[in-house]
Order: sequence, then C-alpha cells, then structure tokens
Amino acid sequence: MRRKTKLIHGGISEDPATGAVSFPIYQVSTYKQEGVGGHKGFEYSRTGNPTRNALEELIKDLEGGEAGFAFGSGMAAMTAVMMLFNSGDHVILTDDVYGGSFRVMTKVLNRLGIDSTFVDTTDLENIKREIRANTKAIHLETPTNPLLKITDIKAVAKLAKEHNLLTIVDNTFSTPYWQNPIELGADIVLHSATKYLGGHSDVVAGLAVVNSKELAEELHFIQNSTGGILGPQDSWLLIRGMRTLGIRLEEMESNTAAIVAFLQGHSAVKKVFYPGLETHPNHELAKRQTRGFGGMVSFDVGSAENADRLLSKVKYFTLAESLGAVESLISVPARMTHASIPAERRAELGITDGLVRISVGLEDIEDLLEDLAQALE
Ligand SMILES: *Cc1c(COP(=O)(O)O)cnc(C)c1O
Repeated sequence: MRRKTKLIHGGISEDPATGAVSFPIYQVSTYKQEGVGGHKGFEYSRTGNPTRNALEELIKDLEGGEAGFAFGSGMAAMTAVMMLFNSGDHVILTDDVYGGSFRVMTKVLNRLGIDSTFVDTTDLENIKREIRANTKAIHLETPTNPLLKITDIKAVAKLAKEHNLLTIVDNTFSTPYWQNPIELGADIVLHSATKYLGGHSDVVAGLAVVNSKELAEELHFIQNSTGGILGPQDSWLLIRGMRTLGIRLEEMESNTAAIVAFLQGHSAVKKVFYPGLETHPNHELAKRQTRGFGGMVSFDVGSAENADRLLSKVKYFTLAESLGAVESLISVPARMTHASIPAERRAELGITDGLVRISVGLEDIEDLLEDLAQALE
C-alpha cells in the first residue's frame, strides 16, 4: 500500500460488524462478559475501546511500528512515554523543543527524579558529551519549532543503540506522510495529533507508536494505569481528519514554497527559516530524511514592534497558537508557544522578539501572498 492509500485503507478502516465504511463511534465505557473474563477483546474503555483501537491501529500502520497508543493530548502521550523511566534516570532532548515538552521535563518530571539535559542535537558530538551512566533515552524533535532545525535521526539512533538508549522522536511537524522515524532506527514516535494529523483545529490528541513487543506491553500498562486516554468521539474525529492528510500536506507544501520565495525577496524580512531552502544549514539532510519540507516557516522582521504591526494587519493568517490546520495561522513564538521558556534561554536559542512563525493553510495562494504583501508594507 502506498502512502495516501494507507491513510484510507490502513488500520481498521471499516466496521467488521456492520460493514460501515466510517468506523463507528463506540460511545461506551464497559462491555458485557459471557461469564467472568469471557469477553470479545474489550472489558473497560480505559483499557481498550474499539474506536480508539481503530485509531491506534491506523497510526501503528502509518509509522510502521509494533503498536500505537492514543492519548488525550500530545503532552499526555509524551508524559506516558517518560513514565517508562524511573527516578534517577536521565534523558537528553533537543534544545529548541516544543515549550510544553521543556516544561514537563523541567517542572514536573524533574520532581519525580527524571533528569533532563537539552542540547543542539543537530551536532552528534553534543549528544555524545552528555551521555551518562544513568542516561536512558534521547528525545528528538525534528524539524524543530520554531527554527526548523533538522536532526539526523539515523545517526542518533545508531549512537543510541551503541549506548543501549531508546530513541524517541516527536514527529508532529513532519507526520508519517513525510518522515518515518522507526524506519530510520527510532524506538518510539510521538505526535501531537492536534496539529497536522487532526488538521482541522477541532481536536486535541496525542499518539505514540513503539517498535517492539516489550515497549508495547510496557506502554499499554502505563496507558491503562495512568489513564490519559483519548475518548471515542475524538478518536473518530482524528481518523476522519487523517484520511485527507496526504492531499492536505501536498497542497500546504506547495503554498509554503510560494510564501518562502515571496518572503525571501521582501526587504522587511531579515531572515527566513525553512528546511527547503538551499541556504538552510540542514537542507541536504532534510532532503535525505524527509519526503517533504513541511508547511511551517519562520521569519524575522527585526523587532517585536514590527511583528505586532504585521499581526495587526493580516486578514487570512489567524493569530493563534497551534499549527497544521486548514486555516493559516500566525504567531510570535517568544510571546506565545515559547513563553514558558526563560528569556535568556530563548535568546541563546535564537528565538528573537521579531521572529514570526506561520503555519500555512489551504487558502488560495494568491490570497495568502496578497495578504502578506499588504501587511508587510
Ligand atoms: C503541540 C505540540 C506538542 C504538544 O501537543 P498537545 O496536543 O498540545 O498536548 C508536542 N510537540 C510538538 C512538536 C507540538 O507542536
């Protein structure tokens, strides 16, 4: 099965009981047993629900893993995965990770004794330097948010294996349509399905895929024990959104290429960050590792004032957090998605006050370009 076909026919794409071509919403908490323990595979919906199961099978197929798991948000998925570790363990993460990932590691999981170090994972030497006796995993986000740096998943996974560490990849920005971390050697893939997978700004959800039976058993135990599951309605919405992921991403990427070209030629724009640009430091790696450069682009307009002026003038770019949906969104990471990262650290990372991030949607490209042109005047 090719990729667009798999989005539609992968997983459990129809209901075996009725033949319904849209998998039904099993709005149910418990299941009748024919004698104690005599059930049809479902006992209680925290442990397993048919609609959630259909979604979990779909993401498993798309990522090419052993098992998939659906959670109430991307952060719930990440937290559950971090529960694989114990007090005293250490995890190395990409330095410009999603603000919420930084926060859960440094403000919540640290209290449970899970220690973390953040490094620029685009350079393997930085990771090597931080591997300690108690290091258990390397968590990568690639491309990163908002600077769109690319880490070599294959090289990191190889290093991780040599040291008996797990490789975890947050694949939110690329999705399995563009990038398959498990094929490149990763052990666990994470998603904020709130973004491209859902794709319509109408559901908050998280997914995890693991590549081995042992990890599948452990993560199912954690999912069932801690209970941060996705409900059947949201599971259904996510399946429905994922069916059009391929055509959405193709169109978004072509819109993004046009916007990048426009921004590059504009005098009010100091710098454009996009892995599809030949001048991007990780361009060759991006070409090798992913099938698409994505629909996110960041650019620097020089100051917070310039950014505010732009934000107040755009009509078709909605000022909002989040990304990956049909409507184009615009944000200033320093004061929005990355506000939970301390100012000094933001400065170190290059997340300046004039940095603007856009998530390119599915509007007509002519409208998007005209809108940016008038707003940047
Ligand atoms: C949004 C996001 C998350 C968190 O996901 P939620 O669904 O908001 O909990 C994690 N990683 C990345 C890269 C994200 O963009």
